[in-house]
Parts: sequence; structure tokens; C-alpha cells
Amino acid sequence: MRRVYLDHSATTAVRPEVLEAMLPFLKEEAFGNPSSIYSYGREARKAVTEAREKVAKLIGAKPEEIYYTSGGTEADNLALMGVAAAYQERGRHIITSAIEHHAVLDTAQYLGRHGFKVTFVPVTPAGLVQVEDVKRAITDETILISIMHVNNEVGTIQPIREIGQLARERGIIFHTDAVQSVGKLPINVEELNVDLLTASSHKIYGPKGSGCLYVRKGIRIKPLFYGGAQERKRRPGTENVPAIVGFGRAAELAGQEMDSEMERLRRLRDKLIDGVLSRVEDVRLNGDRQQRVATNVNFGFSYIEGESLLLSLDMKGICASSGSACTSGSLDPSHVLLAMGIPHEEAHGSVRMTLGRDNTEADIDYVLEVLPEIVERLRAMSPLNKDNEGEAK
Ligand SMILES: *Cc1c(COP(=O)(O)O)cnc(C)c1O
Repeated sequence: MRRVYLDHSATTAVRPEVLEAMLPFLKEEAFGNPSSIYSYGREARKAVTEAREKVAKLIGAKPEEIYYTSGGTEADNLALMGVAAAYQERGRHIITSAIEHHAVLDTAQYLGRHGFKVTFVPVTPAGLVQVEDVKRAITDETILISIMHVNNEVGTIQPIREIGQLARERGIIFHTDAVQSVGKLPINVEELNVDLLTASSHKIYGPKGSGCLYVRKGIRIKPLFYGGAQERKRRPGTENVPAIVGFGRAAELAGQEMDSEMERLRRLRDKLIDGVLSRVEDVRLNGDRQQRVATNVNFGFSYIEGESLLLSLDMKGICASSGSACTSGSLDPSHVLLAMGIPHEEAHGSVRMTLGRDNTEADIDYVLEVLPEIVERLRAMSPLNKDNEGEAK
């Protein structure tokens, strides 16, 4: 059966070029510990250093400002916990948004239970944070603002340059979770006024369990872990050399291909959006049509459960998701859609499709062929559909 993968915001396959770059560092030829002084160690150290240059280049940072982590989740934790611990004498107030990834949201909530005050700024019905709301939330106690660059569920691009500028004027540290924008939007930490930035390797065709936190020179953070001098003591532990090398190669390729690949995916995305909106009734595009990353589509279908739709799509070989992978499996509707003011029932009928390298125009044609039939069939049996009242008894 045909298989169409439309969940690239959940994870991506390691690209062949990335795998090839990684393999020597898993094998006898180059398995060394970067801290060792003999040749194996020096080779591993060199590879880790080269990867750092590649990752730094993709976001306009200096290599020494990149700290490798086990992924986006750890980098988000390090940013929030690290700044909170280092700057608590200055103030104990943190600003973030209601639509952050759980790695930021849950960490902020944890800090909220341990002596910090946290403000979760709201979003517009289109899923955009408003700079004015952030501005209003600032107090003399505010030490950190953390607003994501691109939302993982609805693809909205947040005004982080303006928020960064605001933070800078007020002497507040600014963190952005850029896991969903790295490799998809041009990023320059100088131009965007960012002090801390989270990136993850497996969202850009690198291996899982690898990522980084960019920390601007001069910003203090307390480490989450203790036990070694790796990553200038900010993230001790023997480096995951193969994963770091893969992350570096993936970052390099993402930078080289970004313009043309995002142009291609934007066309496919628009074809998918226009096709579904014209073929299916009572469907909405969740998120902003313009301020949207090239790879994201999120539809709300009235009268059906997103989960049933996902199962039916899966039977046709189409892999999509309801909101974020991290909360699927739970029956709670997405906190992002609820924060956008979408009612519970409609939030339940939402499906996210995220495009990537392997998608072709034929994939979109296939989805447009099977999706309307599935929606029609599910609606015909749905108890949520008012037309079915009486018949279902
Ligand atoms: C996937 C994701 C993360 C978590 O990254 P991991 O490397 O999977 O830990 C954090 N933030 C956003 C926005 C994400 O999409």
C-alpha cells in the first residue's frame, strides 16, 4: 500500500547523508571519547567541533555559544531552569505563552510551584502572541521571557524579533524554542534579538536524542547536571558523538537547501489547504493563513473525532496526527487549540499534517482523493452530526 508520511513535525527520518557522516563514530574506526588525548579522542573532538560550527552557522551564532543537549526538551529545561537559578536574586517573574510546547510549559509550571511567578500570555484566535500582551506582562521582577518561534501544532510564526527587542530594552533575557523553525525559516540570533535558542536534530532529518541550546555570550545559566567539564561545564557527560555529528551534518544540509525546499513545500501546502477547503464542507484551517511555516497544515472538521479520522487515514497509509505527538494518547484536547478559543468539541475534530522532504505532489493528490470520502463516511455515522439525530437510536 502507498504510504504518505505527513507528521514531520513529530519526527523525521535520518537522511542518508547524515547516517553516512555518523557511522564512523559508532564503529572501531572513530569511536573515541572526545576528552581523550590520543588520536581516537582527538578525531572525535574535531568532529564535535566541526559540527558545532555547522549548527552555529545555521542560526547566525558563534560556535562557542552552542551547548549540545539530548534534544529540544532538555534544552528548553536548561534555558528556563538555568536562568531561573542564576538570576533569582534579580527577580522571580517569568513570561511565556499559553501555546508553548510542553517542554517549556511544564517547566514554567514547575517553577511556578517553586517560588517563581509565571505569566502565560494569551494568543489571538489565529494562534499569534501579541507583543502588546508581552509588554503589559512585564514587571520589575521579570527575568526571562520565553516565546516559541514557530508553533508545533498550528505552524504560526511568532513576532520574536519584536519581543526580543522589547526584552532587550528592558534588560530581560529572551529565550525562544525554535525547534520548528530551525531549517525552515532563516534564523539569525543577532537580528532576532535572541539570548537563548533551542534546536533539535530529529526535526531536521538528524538523529533523535540530539539538540542544543544557544546561549549568548555573557548570559549566565546554572547547569541541570553536574559531573564533568564537557560543554564548558554547562552540560557535563561524555558527548554523544555520533548524534552530534549527525546533527551538524543535518544542520549543514538544511541551511543549503532551505530556500528551494521551503518554496517547494509551501506550494504543496497551499495545494493541500485549498484542495481540502474546496472539497470538504464545515472545515476550518486552524492557525494563521499568512504567518505560517511552509510545512504546516491543521484542519478542524466539524462533527467528527480527530482520532477516528486519524485511524481511517492510517488505513489508507496516511500518517497524520492530532495536535502534538506528545499529547496524543491522551484524550485532552490540545492546549494550543483551546488557547486559540476553539471550543472543546471542535478542538477534538482537528488533524495536523506536516510536510517534509519525502512528500511529492502525488502525495497531496492522494490525500485530496481519499480524505473527502473518509470525512463524509465518518460524518454519516457520527453522533455529533445533528443530521443523524434520531437515526442513531
Ligand atoms: C519536538 C519539539 C520539542 C522537543 O524536542 P525533542 O528533541 O523531541 O526533545 C520541543 N519544542 C518543540 C516546539 C518541538 O516541536
